[in-house]
Amino acid sequence: MDRYAVLGNPIEHSRSPQIHRLFAEQTGEEIAYDALLVPRARFVATVRELVAAGARGFNVTLPFKGEACESVDWRSEEAERAGAVNTVVVAADGVLNGYNTDGQGLLHDLVDNLGWTVAGKCVLLIGAGGAVAGILPALLEAGPARILIANRSPRKAELLADRFDAPGILAAAPLGRIPEAFDLVINGTSASLQGDVPRLDENAVDAHTRCYDLVYGPGITAFNRWAAMRGAAATSDGLGMLVEQAARSFELWRDKRPLTRPVIERLRAELSQQRGELLGHKPSA
Ligand code: NDP
Repeated sequence: MDRYAVLGNPIEHSRSPQIHRLFAEQTGEEIAYDALLVPRARFVATVRELVAAGARGFNVTLPFKGEACESVDWRSEEAERAGAVNTVVVAADGVLNGYNTDGQGLLHDLVDNLGWTVAGKCVLLIGAGGAVAGILPALLEAGPARILIANRSPRKAELLADRFDAPGILAAAPLGRIPEAFDLVINGTSASLQGDVPRLDENAVDAHTRCYDLVYGPGITAFNRWAAMRGAAATSDGLGMLVEQAARSFELWRDKRPLTRPVIERLRAELSQQRGELLGHKPSA
């Protein structure tokens, strides 16, 4: 049985093993997929051990995506531009090929699953961490009219915009000074994980704005609740992106594209049940 894994720290809440098990069942592929908690200083050593043990590939999550990008033998253009690798394919000769599937995962969810449009639209991207760097190449590729990056630490947003060198399309602005409403606002911060909302200028969202939070959980995220209260046209969390980026990893490893909708629906149902339990409701039979 071919072996795969996800490497991160922390890792106990990762849904990747379940997602890849569902993909394997659906496509008839026989794979094993484990979640590995990797000590901060042992990423490269763990990769060496995995490859020596015959692993065919692995996913990389927080905080190792940058280190993975530096340590692979070859990286895709998206991974190179993002400076982050979330998927590694181990070739037969042991060569490590690095990819970043986060951006394509987001685009699939926005365009194919939700039916939203990016081409020609004005996009506000909140945050300037690894996730935002990871999705920027695919977002730029999708042909938006403009992308504005706004981050709590403004200098990081400026540095990120400069790194991508897309004059006339990509720029940075302070979170609290967004003069007009955007077509699409993507929250790429981890604020919702703490129940926080970035201190975003209220002008950024109006009744035509669609809002997407990369974070997902049992209930509506803090950012999406804020956006709904501002009257946003639609909101979505990042569960679909999570499944879509995993589907692209699976395809890179097994050369088979799994169906994502049943997996998204299954995870959504489990999150709803979890929410019911958190609220003290008994799950219905
Ligand atoms: P990083 O730690 O690299 O960056 C965190 C970002 O969030 C920074 O821009 C930081 O701002 C900002 N931030 C954190 N707290 C707040 C706050 N209270 N108010 C305003 N800004 C805040 O994390 P990542 O970029 O790797 O990940 C971001 C989120 O995206 C995570 O929650 C992760 O779970 C999610 N994600 C989801 C995926 C999916 O498939 N759905 C895929 C990848 C990531 P500052 O620079 O000022 O510190």
